[in-house]
Amino acid sequence: MNILLLGSGGREHALAWKLAQSPSCGKLFAAPGNPGIAEHGACVALDAADHAAVIRFCEAERIGLVVIGPEAPLVDGLADSLRGAGFAVFGPSRAAAQLEGSKGFTKDLCERAGIPTAGYVRVTSEADALSALDGFSVPVVIKADGLAAGKGVTVAMTAAEAEAAVRDIFAGRFGAAGAEAVIEEFLEGEEASFFALTDGSTIVPFGSAQDHKRVGDGDTGPNTGGMGAYSPAPVLTALLEGEVMARILTPTVQAMADEGYPYSGVLYAGLMLTRAGPKLIEYNCRFGDPECQVLMMRLESDLVEILFACAESRLAAIEQPRFLDETALTVVMAANGYPDTPEKGGRIDGIPAAEADGAKVFHAGTALGIDGVLTANGGRVLNVTARGGSVTEAQAKAYQAVDRIAFPTGFCRRDIGWREVAREAG
Ligand code: ATP
Repeated sequence: MNILLLGSGGREHALAWKLAQSPSCGKLFAAPGNPGIAEHGACVALDAADHAAVIRFCEAERIGLVVIGPEAPLVDGLADSLRGAGFAVFGPSRAAAQLEGSKGFTKDLCERAGIPTAGYVRVTSEADALSALDGFSVPVVIKADGLAAGKGVTVAMTAAEAEAAVRDIFAGRFGAAGAEAVIEEFLEGEEASFFALTDGSTIVPFGSAQDHKRVGDGDTGPNTGGMGAYSPAPVLTALLEGEVMARILTPTVQAMADEGYPYSGVLYAGLMLTRAGPKLIEYNCRFGDPECQVLMMRLESDLVEILFACAESRLAAIEQPRFLDETALTVVMAANGYPDTPEKGGRIDGIPAAEADGAKVFHAGTALGIDGVLTANGGRVLNVTARGGSVTEAQAKAYQAVDRIAFPTGFCRRDIGWREVAREAG
């Protein structure tokens, strides 16, 4: 079966790598892809916002399955357009992608379905927001309603900070994404991510992970798209995973179906493990990046079979996804200046040496020149991923691989997984 994968990041390289391993994978195309993905399939220039062009491509190349990596085309309704044209798609409809695209939508759904999450108020003006703040103590969390590339959320430690965040949103800093806002109670605990696949009626667990969002060692400095991750997240014990499935994910899928927005694709729950049990912080309607890289590194099952079954609403008929009982850990190598002004064009060497002992280097922002030289072409550039019997072992192997890469204009954190490494040291 021919497959079209949309996206160009490390997440999509990991998906392409795994899709290409399946005996059912025919020709693999990626749009726009990246030099790492090009090792597994053909990269094509297709604008995901031009639905008619994507459909024409799928017809011409007899695509049997379309896998949509990032959230923007999902929120934009690409899955609906493709399904309307008769194609099998892995990814939710525009209406279902509101679970990520509108924080207010998700909070209201949680309230109706009794799903544990932070107390909240939805507001549509600065005046309403400022008066709603009176009902919260600090810390308090202020969120632009729509997609804001991770920048729309402020955890305000003081009332002045909260008011500034509200004014920022309603001054138009996030455009249409900030036409509404959500003010939320602050939850205390450790964060973890949990993934499930669903075809709208059947739901199966698809692993857990923890990531590091801050740019600097010790979780310091500005927020980023993610500087590293590991899977599974040992804090999410089997008991807690059962609770998350029963109290959060299953009722969400049920409520979405009941309310007329059946959800199909991967459902990624950002969780806070509070003293009162796991609570939902947010949903994403796609795989996390770099969490996807560690999930794919552990996945034993055939990814094409799973994603196709999901797209065709046959999830109940296939074997549940199986994962290696090992830890996978990924270290993000970024270009100097990331997250503000990443330096472009820096030369990268040594990937074959880094992969010599079983590690896998997923490409994110890279470019390959006609001279065959690989260079940095984005903020997050490489995801160096390794497996081990523990977080400590996976971390050691990942950094051993990192140290074989020559990327003088790049950097990485040296402590990915530190919390678990400390716990494992007892
Ligand atoms: P954006 O919409 O701008 O892309 P996002 O989807 O990443 O942002 P969230 O995941 O909702 O936004 O929040 C970002 C981070 O803020 C969380 O990972 C968490 O650390 C913190 N956070 C969000 N809500 C809460 C809360 N209620 N209590 C404590 N921390 C929170």
